[in-house]
Amino acid sequence: MSAQPILYTFRRCPYAIRARMALRYAGIEYEHREVILRDRPSEMMAISPKGTVPVLQLSNGEVLEESLDIMLWCSPEEWLVGDWKELVEVNDGKFKDNLDRYKYSNRFDDVEKPEVHRNEVLNILAQYEQRLGKSLFFCGDELTLADVALAPFVRQFANTDMAWFKVQNLPNVQRWLEEILASELFTECMEKHEQWQSPMTQDDPNPLAEAIISDQPAQPAKLAEPAEMSKARQEMVEQQLLPRGISDPRVISAMSTTPRHLFLPQEAWSEAYRDHPLAIESGQTISQPFIVAMMSELLSPLQASAKVMEIGTGCGYQTAVLVALGYEVHSIERIASLSHGARKTLGEIDSLPSELLVGDGMMGNPAGAPYDAIISTACARRVPKAWIDQVVEGGLIITPVKRFGGKQYLMRYTKRGSNLLKEDLGLVRFVPLLSGVDES
Ligand code: SAH
Repeated sequence: MSAQPILYTFRRCPYAIRARMALRYAGIEYEHREVILRDRPSEMMAISPKGTVPVLQLSNGEVLEESLDIMLWCSPEEWLVGDWKELVEVNDGKFKDNLDRYKYSNRFDDVEKPEVHRNEVLNILAQYEQRLGKSLFFCGDELTLADVALAPFVRQFANTDMAWFKVQNLPNVQRWLEEILASELFTECMEKHEQWQSPMTQDDPNPLAEAIISDQPAQPAKLAEPAEMSKARQEMVEQQLLPRGISDPRVISAMSTTPRHLFLPQEAWSEAYRDHPLAIESGQTISQPFIVAMMSELLSPLQASAKVMEIGTGCGYQTAVLVALGYEVHSIERIASLSHGARKTLGEIDSLPSELLVGDGMMGNPAGAPYDAIISTACARRVPKAWIDQVVEGGLIITPVKRFGGKQYLMRYTKRGSNLLKEDLGLVRFVPLLSGVDES
């Protein structure tokens, strides 16, 4: 028997999220076994044949199969306050039922109008709104079990149609949710893990493998995004990227699925997929879609799981594209407020990279080095030495560089010993790479 408890979990499942948050809050170390829902390991099915996550196997062999049992097992006493039981009952009952019927309406025969179920959830949220007007969290001014038990479900509801959710009159619920989602407790619990591989080589297909599990990989929800945004994105791919030679299917897929409009304020959505850069906060810009696609395609020689450092997170759009490409992304931004904004948007669309750092990207990130590639969306005068030092032999540096005379050229360098092999990809315009950090 293993010395640490073993947790079978799935990153986006709200039940699993709340169990991980409680374990982490309690400081309990456990062996993380990330489960892919269509390919559940026989070890998990053997101890919990119902096939849903989370499942916690304690070091004495005891098995906890319900997220609430896991939470109760590890929660400190001060977490078990107020009417948490009633709150969890409504959440796991009426809230969850209606959430599923709204989000996954195509899986239910009896759902004609998903909006009916969205309204049912909204009625419950109106009650939450009143409570959260009186205290910061559900049972007082501190985070307790009730908040952690409910938040992953409210998050899932909000994420189904974020634009709609944001314009509901729920300022206290939104404030509460944002605070939890921005917390270290939450973001650390959402780190990505590879699928756990059973040491047993022969895995018999399990008859329960198709049983309904608490959360399925995202499916296009009927109300998920305004139709004009998906249409505009498709047109952007067809009219701006394909004719100009973007051809890597992975890049085309990442650009077709990454919701660029969500990185902008709603007033600017109609501009989101146009063929030009856009202004974002703090006097910075979000690059033109074609430039994002082109810079991403310049990384194509890399392995899909390569480690990439991005300089200039900005609003996080390029970061999301790199995450969608499957890279391990470490992104650095010198303006703290931009980095925080990017963390929020990337969290909402489940595209958080491995690291989002506030720092001076000119220095790179020695702690994460070496990198397979460095990509900068700010224009350097020359390639900083730290980047050359922190990239592997044969690794890539993609950056705009300003030449004498003021013109900027997009360059791809390949490290060969102490030399850089150069490719010049033409004129571009980026904001300058500046030194130092802006904490405002
Ligand atoms: N990739 C971004 C584009 C942002 S513009 C997007 O998709 O939105 C370039 C960004 O580089 C700006 O946010 C700017 O603040 C940042 N930047 C400039 N110098 C930097 C440095 N030394 N370290 C980190 N970020 C820097």
